[in-house]
Amino acid sequence: MEVSDKQGDSAIIDKVRIFCQKYLKPIASDLDRQNRFPVELLGLMAEEGFFGLNYPVADGGGGYDSVVTHNVVKEVAKVSAGVALTLHVHWMALDVLLKYGSEVQKETYLADLMQGKKIAAYTISEAQAGSDAAAIRATATPCDNGWLLNGAKYFCTNGGLADVYFVAFKTDQDAGAKGISMFVVEKGTPGFQIGGSEEKMGCRSSLTTGLVFNDCHVAADSLIGNVNEGFKVAMYGLVGGRLGMASMGLGIAEAALEAAAQYVNRRMAFGKPLSALYAVQAMLADMYVKIQAADLLVVDTAQKRDSGRDYSLATSVAKLFVAEVVTEVCHKALQVFGGHGYMKHNDPERYARDARLLDIGVGASEVLKMVVGSAVAKTIGSRG
Ligand SMILES: Cc1cc2nc3c(=O)[nH]c(=O)nc-3n(C[C@H](O)[C@H](O)[C@H](O)COP(=O)(O)OP(=O)(O)OC[C@H]3O[C@@H](n4cnc5c(N)ncnc54)[C@H](O)[C@@H]3O)c2cc1C
Repeated sequence: MEVSDKQGDSAIIDKVRIFCQKYLKPIASDLDRQNRFPVELLGLMAEEGFFGLNYPVADGGGGYDSVVTHNVVKEVAKVSAGVALTLHVHWMALDVLLKYGSEVQKETYLADLMQGKKIAAYTISEAQAGSDAAAIRATATPCDNGWLLNGAKYFCTNGGLADVYFVAFKTDQDAGAKGISMFVVEKGTPGFQIGGSEEKMGCRSSLTTGLVFNDCHVAADSLIGNVNEGFKVAMYGLVGGRLGMASMGLGIAEAALEAAAQYVNRRMAFGKPLSALYAVQAMLADMYVKIQAADLLVVDTAQKRDSGRDYSLATSVAKLFVAEVVTEVCHKALQVFGGHGYMKHNDPERYARDARLLDIGVGASEVLKMVVGSAVAKTIGSRG
């Protein structure tokens, strides 16, 4: 499938595609089976510039725009969705560091994170608080020379792999969303334990763990932004995260379409290839049309990010639509493969599992519909 990269930017996309075909594709099924991130490729990914792609050259990043980044995430997700998830969660932390980090925090972490010398995680969720992020219970309490962190987090993408953790804590138990603050905590800090990798349904080449804080002492300058203003900080990271999820979903969808389109030419039924059957052609057409539409929407969202304007509503719209598209496309790709699609040794089975995260992660679809629906009522509904 053609990608809509701008002239001059195709070199990086080609480079990523070659990397993915050479190193990631041969092990993608094994990574899924083993529930394992390919740590052996971290150094190469860093050399290729994966980790700072979308950030200013002056800060140590690659200087690529968000449309190029979207196409890069797609290329990675086409081969291994979990690795794409690992990357864009790392970028959520970078977005927050750039916007809300102090000069000392930037000095300490920015270059290493952009160059992939260090990996970041970004965790708000707890076992009892996901969509309702303001209901988190882990606490940060001021002490003489900093903060004491206590409590547990769940669903930490990059848990164990990451060196630096951006984590939300309650700093005022009675103030709801206005009592949350974000902290940066380094792996190895006494009192900070990282759980084992959870067995997941899909995106299994990313790591997901719990985090436990037990009187974990961090310095005063571990606070990101102002005390009790962390909800705004945490939500800002999710905006970029939704764009990353949408790109990842489209990569999975494109991989599923490619697999189905190739299969229909070689599979025979009733003396003809499947490609000659109208019902199969109609499935391919539906898949293709919806992917094309979703891609335009995500590219438009990426351009809004680059414009510097508020693009939060656009990312919710894009992720919602991509979630629907990738679910339908993966269902149809599996259907085209028939019983063979249900078998683990054929990729559509993995794509269908990976796609399921799109309706859940970085804002469940029901919650995003609430956000988009109320915005529509407020803006379009108030006209005339
Ligand atoms: C693989 C994976 C990786 C993840 N990585 C991270 C990470 O790195 N960092 C992090 O912070 N979190 C992470 N998460 C957590 C993820 O963001 C949450 O799972 C998600 O926000 C949903 O929260 P929940 O699971 O608690 O579901 P709940 O909030 O309990 O929701 C359950 C159901 O109720 C619906 N619902 C909830 N509230 C409403 C409402 N107001 N209106 C209508 N319906 C509603 C939801 O849509 C959903 O269908 C990850 C999750 C997974 C599965």
